[in-house]
Amino acid sequence: MDADVIVVGAGPAGLLLAGDLAEAGVAVTVLERRDAQANLTRAFAVHARTLEELDARGVADELLATGQRVGELRLFGRVKVGLSGLPSRFPFLLVTPQYETERVLLGRAERAGARIERGVEVTALRQDATGVEVDVRGPDRAESTRRAKYLVGSDGVHSTVRHALGEPFPGHSAVRSVMLADVRLSQAPPDVLTVDTGSDGFAFIAPFGDGWYRVIAWDRRNQRPDHDPMDLDQVRDIVRRVLGTDLGMHDARWMSRFHSDERQAPHYRVGRVFLAGDAAHVHSPAGGQGMNTSLQDAANLGWRLAAAVRGWASEDVLDGYEAERHPVGRAVLRGSGGLLRAALLGNPAARWVRNTVLNAVLKLGPVVSRVAGAVSGVGIRYSAPRGAHRLVGARAADVALAGDGPGRLYEALRGGRFVLVTSASGDASERHGWRGPVTTVTPARPLGADLLVRPDGYIAWAADAS
Ligand SMILES: Cc1cc2nc3c(=O)[nH]c(=O)nc-3n(C[C@H](O)[C@H](O)[C@H](O)COP(=O)(O)OP(=O)(O)OC[C@H]3O[C@@H](n4cnc5c(N)ncnc54)[C@H](O)[C@@H]3O)c2cc1C
Repeated sequence: MDADVIVVGAGPAGLLLAGDLAEAGVAVTVLERRDAQANLTRAFAVHARTLEELDARGVADELLATGQRVGELRLFGRVKVGLSGLPSRFPFLLVTPQYETERVLLGRAERAGARIERGVEVTALRQDATGVEVDVRGPDRAESTRRAKYLVGSDGVHSTVRHALGEPFPGHSAVRSVMLADVRLSQAPPDVLTVDTGSDGFAFIAPFGDGWYRVIAWDRRNQRPDHDPMDLDQVRDIVRRVLGTDLGMHDARWMSRFHSDERQAPHYRVGRVFLAGDAAHVHSPAGGQGMNTSLQDAANLGWRLAAAVRGWASEDVLDGYEAERHPVGRAVLRGSGGLLRAALLGNPAARWVRNTVLNAVLKLGPVVSRVAGAVSGVGIRYSAPRGAHRLVGARAADVALAGDGPGRLYEALRGGRFVLVTSASGDASERHGWRGPVTTVTPARPLGADLLVRPDGYIAWAADAS
């Protein structure tokens, strides 16, 4: 074996996963076909649940320092969802370029001992009862094979791993000719996030916090193929028609035109091979869910693979990845697709109805917390086995801890172990049944239940305190 786990692709999903596996003492190799880390700005929104996952890995503060916090999510014009009421340490959206997220995750993975091989492209794979073998083409175009116990395809939307498995990627194209530009503005936008729609299209502007802004625009009257040359005047023109001003945009450092698909692989696990991130699902950029969902896939998979390599996990634990993450991917596809279709409404009467109805329902407290929970990921909850305690599958809140050790649950989760939160003394391992290592902590205030929290911050087992 060349490694316990081979991860194909050093995007956000692959890097988070590699860090988790290496921290758990698993021999992990990442194969990445690019020579250097990408410096393109793709995703720019990091949501609260992702920040919590990064907090549980000790790198949230490093990422927070790179961006700007936004306390509300603007949907269309005046329609917005407040995030300040989120029951999280991070009740906001962090706007920062994707390459900063990748930089932070790469640093962590390397410090933990993950092996990252660049300029190495995976071209084919085979699996048998004991492992997975991949054919690779190296920097000098030399062909070789690598073998590991498990393999994860986090190799993006055109995933070679998914193709090699023969997995379909059913779905459809949602919107064509969306323009992206990173620009400077001579005039500050009226709001931190500016977004609106008109009969002609939509415009969205978000700050990176360092003087650069991301503009996303779509012009119903000017649809072109992805490869058509793009200039800033095309962006200025539609932004002016939708917002009434182009805010003096200039100096585009990067521009790109893309089309957005909505697709999902039917299976995230085929034997010893797993799909994570864009390799498993792709959807509209509305709501900024792509990178966040990908990172949370990786957080869900890492501890399972580590436990399988160490011999602590049954097949059920590995199957649990698809069982939990496939429904989340489907919900994200539906949610971001609905948001996109609402944004693309061309008819002024339909847009008026949309804004009026949304403005009314988003004044209702429970609706706001549901929408904020869904968009931020804080509301994600996994289903529990029949007969399980009502807390199993829920996201664990970041409770304060007593004693001289870590001050909060998410600090105690650093290191990738399960954490038992209990006020009772004595060994609870017979009750919760987890065979891997467990850190035991005491809550600062009684919780009314003992909780076994997984490394990805979800409750694996609970029992009412006696
Ligand atoms: C133009 C654009 C704008 C976007 N804007 C947003 C946004 O605003 N908000 C948002 O949340 N998301 C956005 N996304 C989506 C977001 O960038 C992705 O969801 C995210 O990058 C997925 O991470 P990943 O790790 O799954 O895959 P990727 O980031 O795609 O990483 C896959 C990696 O695998 C490597 N690879 C591929 N094939 C092989 C192979 N055969 N062998 C070895 N390595 C291989 C690639 O080089 C790449 O480094 C955008 C995407 C695009 C294209």
